[in-house]
Amino acid sequence: MSIPRLPPLPSIRDILKLYRLNAVKRLSQNFLMNQNLIDKIIAKSGHLTGGQVLEVGPGPGGLTRSILKRIPKRLVVVEKDTRFKPTLEMLADSFGAINGRMDIIYDDIMKTNLESLFPIEEKRNWDDKSPDIYVIGNLPFNVSTPLIIRWLHAIAERRGPWAFGRTKMTLTFQKEVAERLVAEVSGHQRCRLSVMAQAWTFPVLRFIIPGKAFVPQPDVDVGVVSFTPLVKPRTQHDFKLFEKITRHVFSFRQKYSIRCIETLFPLYCRKELGLMMYKLSDLDPTLRPTQLTVNDIDRLATAYKYLVEKHPEIGLYEYRASRHLLTLNNTKDVVVQDYTEM
Ligand code: SAM
Repeated sequence: MSIPRLPPLPSIRDILKLYRLNAVKRLSQNFLMNQNLIDKIIAKSGHLTGGQVLEVGPGPGGLTRSILKRIPKRLVVVEKDTRFKPTLEMLADSFGAINGRMDIIYDDIMKTNLESLFPIEEKRNWDDKSPDIYVIGNLPFNVSTPLIIRWLHAIAERRGPWAFGRTKMTLTFQKEVAERLVAEVSGHQRCRLSVMAQAWTFPVLRFIIPGKAFVPQPDVDVGVVSFTPLVKPRTQHDFKLFEKITRHVFSFRQKYSIRCIETLFPLYCRKELGLMMYKLSDLDPTLRPTQLTVNDIDRLATAYKYLVEKHPEIGLYEYRASRHLLTLNNTKDVVVQDYTEM
């Protein structure tokens, strides 16, 4: 049986010229023009043939074409900028001509309900192999970091595409962010993002794309990262609790981690409860934040939960809020600065 092929299409460069699609700075648009690199991203995204694919930010459709060439059962694209309507509709029509289905949603990915996008037949148990659903996106840098945090939260709670099982995703990030996502314990890139990503997924930095492969050229290179949700996450804690502990752990990177953990508590009991957290977790208080494993942070979260259950008023304490109250008595300017920092 012959594999269906897309009808010939004008090049992305011609489409950009034809519809006068200049990159919009406000939407951080940088279009990938190198076909080999586009195909490489799509090849690393999984076996898309016959699968359900969600592409975020298709723009003029470079990655979209490469996805369609693999003949997925269905492709859904979510694009905020409606200027791409003619080119995306042309792709949907071409795919329709070979009996494929491509749906276009013009929306902000941060607001799109993703759970309703996939058919229930695709659902797998969490500990089965990943479902035939693939999430792919060459996103603007200002969207990709908040989006990955939002999606890690969804993975932890098995919502959205993760209500169907351990859906894989392949996304692009600014190179430094990509390196942070995969940074190992004691690595100089190790940070809050590394811990959060590695608590629920197995992130792999696939390759780096030089900035010059994009039009217009961004100031930085780009890293392609794939994420597979873990069968057994490295923490069983609620996302928000684990995020709170991780955020505090990395509040002063160069200090002993106990100094960071102490900020979880009001001044009058900070030293005592900080030390108790390390005793309960059986951890060395002189470890630096970057030396703590995900498992260590999980143990600290367990100790914190135990202390909050015993003394619920501790859980209400917010380090930043207390700084705000302190500065309130001093100058107005400091208070404003404190808010803008948040
Ligand atoms: N995928 C195309 C490529 O690789 O050439 C375009 C990449 S460009 C970096 C990012 C795309 O995401 C743009 O088309 C932009 O309009 C779109 N975009 C930006 N913010 C978005 C959002 N919040 N929701 C959906 N799409 C968004």
